[in-house]
Amino acid sequence: MKVFRPKQQTTKIILDDRFCKGCNLCVQVCPQKLFSQGEKRSRGGYRMPEVGHEKECSGCLLCEMTCPDLALTVLREKK
Ligand code: SF4
Ligand code: SF4
Repeated sequence: MKVFRPKQQTTKIILDDRFCKGCNLCVQVCPQKLFSQGEKRSRGGYRMPEVGHEKECSGCLLCEMTCPDLALTVLREKK
């Protein structure tokens, strides 16, 4: 699948350990498969996902829109 990625854009994925409940919806929804189940625990004791290569992120925001606990923020910055 061809992914649209503006050339002048970088993304940063911020995962807030105060809110993540380890549901793994972000793991399932990311078209780039950037998330995997991790070992680190959130403050609530849930296993949080790990973020893979941020460089591969297209900035589609699907993860941010899907997360039911508002634990994910995708920052899109111009280079
Ligand atoms: S969708 Fe949100 S709450 Fe669920 S694992 Fe991902 S970051 Fe955590
Ligand atoms: S913005 Fe899109 S490509 Fe980037 S991590 Fe979220 S779902 Fe994956």
